[in-house]
Amino acid sequence: MFKAIVLDKAEDQQTVAFKELDEAQLPEGDVTVRVAYSTMNYKDALALTGSAPIAKSYPMVPGIDFAGVVESSDNPDFKPGDQVVLNGWGVGEKHWGGLAEKVRVPGDWLIPLQTPFTERQAMGLGTAGYTAMLCVLALEKQGVKPEDGPILVTGAAGGVGSVAVAVLAKLGYDVAAMTGRPEEADFLKMLGASSIVDRAEYSEKGRPLAKEQWAGAIDVAGGQVLANVCAAMKYRGVVAACGLAAGMGFPATVAPFILRGVTLVGVDSVMAPKAERLEAWKRLAQDLDINKLENLITDVPFEQVIDQAPLMMKGQIRGRIVVPVAGE
Ligand code: NDP
Repeated sequence: MFKAIVLDKAEDQQTVAFKELDEAQLPEGDVTVRVAYSTMNYKDALALTGSAPIAKSYPMVPGIDFAGVVESSDNPDFKPGDQVVLNGWGVGEKHWGGLAEKVRVPGDWLIPLQTPFTERQAMGLGTAGYTAMLCVLALEKQGVKPEDGPILVTGAAGGVGSVAVAVLAKLGYDVAAMTGRPEEADFLKMLGASSIVDRAEYSEKGRPLAKEQWAGAIDVAGGQVLANVCAAMKYRGVVAACGLAAGMGFPATVAPFILRGVTLVGVDSVMAPKAERLEAWKRLAQDLDINKLENLITDVPFEQVIDQAPLMMKGQIRGRIVVPVAGE
């Protein structure tokens, strides 16, 4: 038997509870992993609170990330005792996920834990951190360089945003951190932000083209914020968009794209190919100050995850949450 958070549906209402499950109930897969750490991303908070239809079937074990040790494997790439990490692939949505003591998944979805990270540090990054790195790689692939000008990071005090600020600063970029929480200014400066932008300046409908300010941007907000960010890009600036914290809409005009040659790059972490995942994790190992990572992490006991989810929905979580499931 093993313990897991289970989402279920009763009379059209989603329920969430801790349950003892039998290993025989685990879904299909050729690798069984004993979870050491999981985490709570924005998508997990959506799932736990039932704020969006993240679970595609019931019962569902949430948790889009986990790090742990292989217990048994029929996959030639993994053997018992290997330390592994999983991010995305629909785990916690279509396939039982990481907020459980055990998971079973196709080995193709796993990557080895990357040196020098511990399992806890890997979950300190989690999907949010790996997505932040995918966004940085997207800017680099479009040719954005530190000397081109400042980079704006939205939702900077959240998971994706805080890792993005720390990585960009270490790479030598001039980073402007947008936040709705002015009280997090010192935290963001400690991560390497050189200036703080008030989210309110970007939250209302703006002009199709604003003053040219940013050579690049990483946006977790979407909605009106993303529209205003696009309008404030420098000529040929690049925006990497990965989130919808401000909304699913995109009330923009084409002006930044056709008059300033702005590029809008979409970033998806869930189905990203394995080679890109490994590249992102290797770059995190190289380009993130591990001491700063510690400052991003808040440990939340497994038993308290359900209670923490509403705080994340309200944007009140700083940095990243790590959930020791069976960690030291
Ligand atoms: P967090 O909750 O940790 O951070 C989100 C941050 O967004 C908040 O901390 C807050 O930062 C900011 N925010 C909240 N509400 C608003 C608003 N109305 N307008 C503008 N900003 C707001 O979430 P994550 O960092 O884990 O995820 C961020 C987004 O990225 C989510 O939408 C998530 O779904 C998405 N995402 C997408 C992935 C992909 O593969 N495309 C992968 C991972 C995440 P502050 O207080 O500093 O303003």
